[in-house]
Amino acid sequence: MAKMVMEKFDGKIPMTIDELIQLPGVGRKTANVVTSVVDKQPNMAVDTHVFRVSKRIGLVPITTKTPFAVEKELVKNFPTELIHKAHHWLILHGRYICVARNPKCEQCGIRPACRYFRTVISPAL
Ligand code: SF4
Repeated sequence: MAKMVMEKFDGKIPMTIDELIQLPGVGRKTANVVTSVVDKQPNMAVDTHVFRVSKRIGLVPITTKTPFAVEKELVKNFPTELIHKAHHWLILHGRYICVARNPKCEQCGIRPACRYFRTVISPAL
């Protein structure tokens, strides 16, 4: 990877998705993280938390099959200037509140907006 950075990119880490994914060991998720964190580009890295939480809350259709499809849907619907932050919001929410097995709905501030809460946990509300 370092060799390619030196030889192909003049010793500088490239800042586009298309260039970054040419580097060995760098996939789309990493490229999205690098460009959104370092350069505040409106790119959304979809890890396991973002994938689960986005579908559970209802930010993307529950039938969305792949991380790339989730990424496209989130990027389409979030305000552009918030996308680089929204990635962290979703990860932290999934890590500490909307956890995989038993989401902590009683502690969650977005219950009224959550598809899962409205349809599964408390459908009568
Ligand atoms: S209400 Fe529950 S399921 Fe919905 S986002 Fe909050 S923790 Fe997750």
